[in-house]
Amino acid sequence: MFNALMLQKQDDRTLAAVESIDESRLATSSDGDVLVRIDYSTLNYKDALAITGRGPVVRAWPMVPGIDFAGIVETSSHPDYQPGDPVVMNGWGAGETHWGGLAQKARVPGAHLIALPTGITTRQAMAVGTAGYTAMLCVQALERHGVSAADGEVLVTGANGGVGSFAVAILARRGYRVIASTGRPEEAARLRELGAADIVERATLSAPGKPLQKERWAAAVDCVGSHTLANVCASLRYGGAVAACGLAQGMDLPATVAPFILRGVALLGVDSVYVPRERRVAAWRAIEEDVPVATMESVAATIPLADTPDYAARLLRGEVAGRVIVDVNA
Ligand code: NDP
Repeated sequence: MFNALMLQKQDDRTLAAVESIDESRLATSSDGDVLVRIDYSTLNYKDALAITGRGPVVRAWPMVPGIDFAGIVETSSHPDYQPGDPVVMNGWGAGETHWGGLAQKARVPGAHLIALPTGITTRQAMAVGTAGYTAMLCVQALERHGVSAADGEVLVTGANGGVGSFAVAILARRGYRVIASTGRPEEAARLRELGAADIVERATLSAPGKPLQKERWAAAVDCVGSHTLANVCASLRYGGAVAACGLAQGMDLPATVAPFILRGVALLGVDSVYVPRERRVAAWRAIEEDVPVATMESVAATIPLADTPDYAARLLRGEVAGRVIVDVNA
């Protein structure tokens, strides 16, 4: 038996509770060839939507939520993994189409796992979590496009969130001058500690704006979408690029083509869930090099599994800054 946060659908409501589950049920929830004893998972925006029922994330019921986890291989019939190997898993529909990481065990295909780089513990991996890994995918997308620190200021929107915090830290570590946009100016000191050179108030970007605005940013990481992303595109410098990964303000994009056809601006979509394996491995390798352990630890609070429903509601109310690690064995 093992403990898992279980989501059940009752009429239109999502019920979330920690349950004791027979291990044999994992075999029917997934066709995975690796059984992982999970040490830590995390609470992401998408998990919060699933747990509270506020967003259509879950596609099969009952569901164990949790889009990521880190742990130790218990049994494996996959040639790349042996019992005792530390592994990390992000995405691939975990917590959406098959049981995810907010549990003490998970059974997944070996192809979904990444061997944890030797310099990162399972706890640190989840302090980074899908948020830090997505932030790294964003930075790598910008750099593949040709952006470099010499080009000028880089804007990060939703900077106090999980992805935003890591984007600020990674860009600063790579020598970029980072401008952090936030609706929580009271957290400015924390953002400066992570490496932000300056702060802009979220409201200056979130209202409807002109199709073309003063050229300001060489590049941007956008966690917010909607009018914010439209305004970011409109204020990128000629040839600039934005890596778009989030929708915290909204899924819409009320923009015009003007920045793209008059300034050669690039909108680079970033998806962490089904991104090919080579890019995942490259991202985790770069995390080992570019995210100091102190940063990993400082942006994270740790909670027990039973507290996740409460924290999910708080996260959606915008009351949680930084990362939330879930100790599934506490
Ligand atoms: P968080 O909830 O931790 O952070 C979101 C941040 O966005 C908040 O901290 C806040 O930052 C800002 N924000 C919240 N509401 C609004 C609003 N109404 N208008 C403007 N800004 C707002 O989430 P994550 O960092 O985990 O994720 C960020 C986004 O990225 C989410 O939309 C998530 O779904 C998405 N995501 C996408 C992935 C992908 O694969 N593409 C992977 C991971 C996440 P502040 O307080 O600084 O203003």
